[in-house]
Amino acid sequence: MAVIEVAGLRKAYGRRQVLEDVSFSVQRGEVFGLLGPNGAGKTTAVECCEGLRRADAGTVRVLGLDPLRDRAALRPRVGIQLQQAQLQGALRVGEALELYAAFYPNPRDWRELLDEWGLADQVRTPFDKLSGGQKQRLFIALALIGNPEVAFLDELTTALDPQGRRDTWELIRRIRDEGVTVVLVSHFMDEVEALCDRAAVLDGGRIVATGTPAELIARSGTGGTLGFRPTAPLDLGRLAALRGVTGVEERDGRIEVTGTGDFADEVTGLLAREGIVVTGLRIREHSLDDAYLALTRHDAA
Ligand code: ADP
Repeated sequence: MAVIEVAGLRKAYGRRQVLEDVSFSVQRGEVFGLLGPNGAGKTTAVECCEGLRRADAGTVRVLGLDPLRDRAALRPRVGIQLQQAQLQGALRVGEALELYAAFYPNPRDWRELLDEWGLADQVRTPFDKLSGGQKQRLFIALALIGNPEVAFLDELTTALDPQGRRDTWELIRRIRDEGVTVVLVSHFMDEVEALCDRAAVLDGGRIVATGTPAELIARSGTGGTLGFRPTAPLDLGRLAALRGVTGVEERDGRIEVTGTGDFADEVTGLLAREGIVVTGLRIREHSLDDAYLALTRHDAA
């Protein structure tokens, strides 16, 4: 069963059409990524799911409910990451968690969340004295305090150092393992590759691709690169004609072949048939980073 079902969503701010026709669905228990360049409409789409914004057209269902009409019923079942401005600076960490726990019928034990998110030593620290990473972790803990079935996390590791990001990934996996469906808005491709079961790429108000990270890489046609140095002359035209090969370059005797699908097997097959021995063989599979750039590449105006 889909936990979130978005169909034909449209939204304009004044004359600016921000969402053109956005449709996606999120299955129960998955970590779903929403990717896209700044201004693509990610936050607007998520806010429509959270019931914070009214779309001009289209339907949104979260746990089978309409986020605007059924707001009261949905609120205790959904976790939303707060924005910085929504917490008072003088509020202590423990007080914030206790306060938010009181809003929910079936909250988590906030002391347990403190431990889980590495904030136990900060229980009496005022919000405005926390480091960027500690604030971020507090926001995530607050999103989870109500024991939600769905959690919306927006740019959750932006303020964290590399270790903090890895630790957060582990915790997101733990949240997922507990059965919480997670919608993750992210700019970081490594994060999406590491965490998301599926992701949608939003660009210019439209979903340009949806799938597992591996499917997105395959669909973008970015494939990979095979580089080597042949020990005998090799006809580059024959390499270029192989199935799946999209580009061949030679520089200082080194050949780089770019392609998709089984292109690497085709290349090594040709080398074997020709009896050409190669040295310095390197293969690089393109990452979600490459796929993302290919999917959202605009011709510069
Ligand atoms: P993203 O999260 O992908 O960066 P947003 O949904 O925040 O995208 O914003 C999409 C576009 O809509 C941006 O150009 C932004 O400036 C504009 N926008 C966002 N909120 C408002 C608003 N309340 N009023 C007018 N324009 C807005």
